[in-house]
This record gives sequence, C-alpha cells and structure tokens, in this order.
Amino acid sequence: MLVFYLLVTYVILQFGWWAYLIYDLNKQILLQKQEIVQLETEHFDAPLLDHGVFTQELDKRFWMVIGEGSIFLLILILGALTIRKTFVKEMALSKMHKNFLLSITHELNSPIASIKLALQTLEKRTLDNEKRNLLVSNALSETSRLASLVDNILLTTKIDDSNFELHTEKIDLSELLQSNLDRSIAPKLSNHHLITKIEKGHFAAVDFLAFASILANLMENAVKYSPEKSTITVSLTSQQNKLIVAVADEGAGISEAEKARIFDKFYRVGNEDTRKTKGTGLGLYITKYLVRAHNGQLIVRDNQPKGTVFEVHINQFQSDATE
Ligand code: ADP
Repeated sequence: MLVFYLLVTYVILQFGWWAYLIYDLNKQILLQKQEIVQLETEHFDAPLLDHGVFTQELDKRFWMVIGEGSIFLLILILGALTIRKTFVKEMALSKMHKNFLLSITHELNSPIASIKLALQTLEKRTLDNEKRNLLVSNALSETSRLASLVDNILLTTKIDDSNFELHTEKIDLSELLQSNLDRSIAPKLSNHHLITKIEKGHFAAVDFLAFASILANLMENAVKYSPEKSTITVSLTSQQNKLIVAVADEGAGISEAEKARIFDKFYRVGNEDTRKTKGTGLGLYITKYLVRAHNGQLIVRDNQPKGTVFEVHINQFQSDATE
C-alpha cells in the first residue's frame, strides 16, 4: 500500500512540474510573439504589446493549464483509487477463498472421521445398549452436520448462479416456527437452555424450506458462539405490519467493525490458525440472501447485558385472523 501512496504522490508532483513547464512555455511563446510584432513594425522604439493585454493573456493561459490539468489529475486519481479498491477487494476475496478451502476440508473431514470411528467400533466390539445408542446417535448427528454443510454449499452455488427460486405461500409463521423448534432444533440443544416467546396467529408469505434454513443457521450460530449452559431466546413479535423473528444468545457478542463484515461470503471473525469454532463463513451469507429474497431484512445487534441478537424482519399478512 505504501508503494501506491508513493506513486500517487509522485504523479501529483509530476503534474505540478508539468503545469509549471506548460505555463513557462506559454510565457515564452507570448514573449516571442511580442518580439515578432515589434520587429514587424520596424520601429524599434514602438511600444511593446500593451502590458495589460499581455498579462491578461498570460493569466488566461495559466488558468487554462490549471483547469485542464486538474481535470486530468482528478481522472487519474479516481482511476488509481478504483484500481486500489478492486485490488484490495480481490486480495481479501482470495484470502477468504483460502480460508474457506482450509475450513471446508476440516469441516468435511471431521464428521467423516467420527462416523467412521463409530461404525468401526460398532463392527468390532460388542457393546451394551446404552453405549451402542450413544455411538449411533453421535454418528447420526455428525451425518446431519455433514448434510447441512453440503446443503449450504449447494445453496451458495445456486445463489451465485442466480439459480435459486423461492416458492412462497401464506403460512402461519407462529406455527411453523414453533414446530421447527420442537422437531428439528430443541432435540439437538442438549447444552443450552432454550426460551421461546412466540406470539400466536401471525401469518406471512414464506418459503417453507428457506425459512427452516434461516432458522437453522441462526440457531447453529447461537449455539456455536455462546457458552454451554447459557440461554438462547427465540421470539416472534409483530411491529407495524412487520413480523420479527429474533434469536438472542449470551455469547461474547460481535464488535461494531465485524458486524459490517459477517454477512460476506466465506467471512469468519478471527484468524484461521487460532479459531476454535467450526464453520465455513457461508451461514450468514445464505441467511441474509434468503431473508432479502422474502423482501425482508436481517439485522444484527447487541444483546443485553451480553451476546448477540439476530432479527429477521418480514412483511406480515394484514388479514391474519380472517384469511
Ligand atoms: P460460520 O459460523 O460458518 O463461521 P457464518 O456466516 O454463520 O459462518 O458467520 C460468520 C461469522 O460471524 C462467524 O465466523 C462468527 O465469527 C460470527 N458470528 C455469527 N453468529 C454469531 C453469534 N451469534 N455470536 C457471535 N459471533 C457470531
């Protein structure tokens, strides 16, 4: 980056020097013109060109050089800034790609290794029912982690290829949220307390599968980024024709600077070498896309006294009760 700023300073100084040269050249030309006029009159004692006209002409040329030069310089600086921005963006993207490949390799390897170990143990040893059930349930949960990872990768490819279609229908969101929590989420939440505050009878135009994916991603993050035994609160409220689904955790929270970046594809807070949590940086990218596809908004804010709240704002069906 230092090289870039040195280059811009060099160009500005060079521009100043050129402007001075052009101005000086103009001055010389005017002086020569004056001499020619003097020679042509063949009266050596004839007065030189009117001094006022001379300085006026010089002034005009001076401002012409400055005006044209400034526009040229401005275009040059804008061009340089655009190139710099593109370069920085490309660098960040390539770093994120690298991080993604590292984490995806790890993410795919670790459940495969766990499942393999569980199956080998089941094959070789005779275990009592309790141990057997534990191994089977661990292997199943690793399998669903693998499946959700593959789903997220496929969904990202579809989103990037503009190949994703939403199939919305009018749904009782209160019921959908409650049943998703009861059937798919609560059974896996063995290390956290779940509190639900779901207002009944709220309808919205929602894609059934997309909504499940939004909820699963937000819940997975709430679990991953908050300590064991802490509380996760899921709520559904309405506010001025909007429905707000909020997932609040009691984790370490997200700094203001990171809040702006966590929705970027592959972005993960922290360093790949020191990070302890598993992930690919796709969850919030997908979630934000899906919420927007519902004409909604995904908002992140601090929880009180600590933690993070993710809020999904979508339009409410007006005739909740009647339709
Ligand atoms: P992943 O969880 O696979 O890293 P996400 O796209 O879901 O990817 O999240 C991006 C980043 O945002 C995460 O790496 C994490 O640092 C941060 N993040 C997401 N949700 C939370 C949360 N509830 N609390 C704290 N940090 C979070």
